Amino acid sequence: MKRFLHSSLLTLHSSLIIAVVAAITSCGGRDSKDLPVYLDDAKPVEERIDDALERMTLEEKIAMLHAQSKFSSPGVPRLGIPEVWCTDGPHGIREEVAWDEWEGAGWTSDSCTAFPALTCLAATWDRDLAALYGRSIGEEARARGKNVLLGPGVNIYRTPLNGRNFEYMGEDPFLASRLVVPYVKGVQSQGVAACVKHFALNNQETDRLAVNVSVSDRALREIYLPAFKAAVEEGGAWAIMGAYNRYKEQHCCHNEYLLNDILKGEWAFDGVVISDWGGTHDTRQAALNGLDLEFGTWNDPSAWGATDSYETYFMARPLMEMVKSGEIAESVVDEKVRRILRLVFRTTMDRGRPFGSFASPEHFAASRAIAEAGIVLLKNDREVLPVDPSGTGTILVVGENAERKMALGGGSSSLKTKYEVTPLEGLRARFGDRVRYMTGYSSKTDSLHYVEPLAEIVEAAGQAETVIFIGGLNKTSGQDCEEADRTSLELPYGQDALIAALAGANTRTAVVIVSGNAVAMPWKNAVAAIVQSWYLGSEGGNALAAILSGDVNPSGKLPFTYYSSLAGCGAHVLGDYPGADHRETYMDDIWVGYRYTDKKGDGASPNFPFGHGLSYTKFEYDNIAGNKETIAPDGTIKISVKVRNTGSRTGSEVVQLYIGDSHASVARPVKELKGFRKVTLEPGKSTKVTFTVTAEELSFYDEARRRWTLEKGNFAAYVAASASDIRGIVEFSVL
Ligand code: BGC
Repeated sequence: MKRFLHSSLLTLHSSLIIAVVAAITSCGGRDSKDLPVYLDDAKPVEERIDDALERMTLEEKIAMLHAQSKFSSPGVPRLGIPEVWCTDGPHGIREEVAWDEWEGAGWTSDSCTAFPALTCLAATWDRDLAALYGRSIGEEARARGKNVLLGPGVNIYRTPLNGRNFEYMGEDPFLASRLVVPYVKGVQSQGVAACVKHFALNNQETDRLAVNVSVSDRALREIYLPAFKAAVEEGGAWAIMGAYNRYKEQHCCHNEYLLNDILKGEWAFDGVVISDWGGTHDTRQAALNGLDLEFGTWNDPSAWGATDSYETYFMARPLMEMVKSGEIAESVVDEKVRRILRLVFRTTMDRGRPFGSFASPEHFAASRAIAEAGIVLLKNDREVLPVDPSGTGTILVVGENAERKMALGGGSSSLKTKYEVTPLEGLRARFGDRVRYMTGYSSKTDSLHYVEPLAEIVEAAGQAETVIFIGGLNKTSGQDCEEADRTSLELPYGQDALIAALAGANTRTAVVIVSGNAVAMPWKNAVAAIVQSWYLGSEGGNALAAILSGDVNPSGKLPFTYYSSLAGCGAHVLGDYPGADHRETYMDDIWVGYRYTDKKGDGASPNFPFGHGLSYTKFEYDNIAGNKETIAPDGTIKISVKVRNTGSRTGSEVVQLYIGDSHASVARPVKELKGFRKVTLEPGKSTKVTFTVTAEELSFYDEARRRWTLEKGNFAAYVAASASDIRGIVEFSVL
């Protein structure tokens, strides 16, 4: 009996196997007649969407429009259409959180590669590294089963106080545009949607949930939108995240002008608009003004989104009721579902997509390469840097940030990483016993009291061969962190006085600032060297040690103006940052960053200009020339320059091209970035760099005509090593 049962089970089993194999073969085959159209990836995506939509009930459709957990939204289980799973973003894959909570789920398999913060990527000025970053983080998202990466962020650096600048790509729309495109393409090459954020005008954290931003159409188009436009039109982004703030009195997550008119209308965006978490406020507006997928709605504001009742989301039961009562047409729902299905077909249901990889050696290597290329050498008197690794003198390292891990913290971009090398660990690995460490300042103690007595620190500094101070900000609230801006440009915890004391004790004092923002530097002239380090990710300490030891020649350049005081920043001088009564007018208009520095001629000049960054070698620029003196409005101009490495080390230089319109009917910036190229040269070697700029790229946004306009007249092309280090000018005119 037993034997009989066994053999019949075997028979049953093998017939099941045959059936399963047949099913797999038929699903995998592209010409199966039985396959429903929506599952047949040989069919055009739009046909598959139509087919899936026809099979869905209204309940199933509405379920797709809002979250089912903190980071996921439902698919259609009955039809085998998978869920959407989002992840922060943008510097690594966030740890898994509990279903309904912000708290970590306590997994042991979710420790990611921490990549450098996006300010660092921007400081590389390197399109290839942006592509590598995107591809690598895309692979990590894919391996973790996520199909939407909540990033990159491209809000413009308008004020150095913005708590989230470290998550963005600096102050210049051209630089951010050129880097966001390869990042987005890299992520999406892995079958993971990039969700570009925060659209738009989210340039501060103060009052971010309510502030209504007023800005001229010109500044909107010229400064605040170009990086988003490039991400959509050139990068082909599959998702975009609405911002928390308001514009034209409507929240940006359901903003008719931004989402319907510009994004989906003018730019023909065919992806999904995702709300920021808790950024949805109204069912009718959400339905009609362009939002597709609602996340993080805080039904109980007193609980700060700690628990959610997904049925009460604006685009859940309330929307269902409005559709059933005829107030909102079902076609409105269909249009959103179409977009979500399109995203799912492009990602999870793309059977050809790669499998990804997670916390791999390749990703840590990529993270390190980006960190090394983004660190900026701001000042280096008497060639105090690099510190010779074959020397024997003591290197005194001072400052809490030397031993602080920075992947954690900062808000939603906080990361649980497999490992993080601190600066002190990196320096010890490179310089061994020569390194002596004193904490100096501490974020935990009163600023007037250092961890070691000041006299002892000063004495140790006097005896050391070189002093390296490692401080800056630290991703706690008010110090580069989501939800709050900084309250001043000054360094916290008594760092300024400590740095001044160190500089007084040792003329070979180098300062390393770890931050995503400019900080005031009252000691700038007293110290010998200054290095701008960012939140560098898992390999940060090794990357910093490579730069300080000269193993790697620094090549990063500032992606923003390094203000010496707020009196040098347009948002503070001309604008009314941070606004009042939930309103703010960007009276600084297009005068953001170097555009303001170039214009004003009075007030505080910056510590370091946009685009600035030194190397351990020197580069000379010559033979600067334009191929034409005049160009037609539909023509292009080529500007070329020969760059030579005249020093004794191999190094990389970011050659910059700015263009200024000498006489226009509107006030235009003296110059604007229109090209850049990073070149690597061995000592004595030179190369010719050629920039091609279309006449169209020289236009401005004409508010009266509501379009981009190019006026005839004279222009100047500036070939430069930074916004204030102009190496040559070519004049030309548009006929
Ligand atoms: C942030 C977003 C983030 C989201 C999910 C929000 O608070 O503004 O950038 O993606 O939370 O964590």
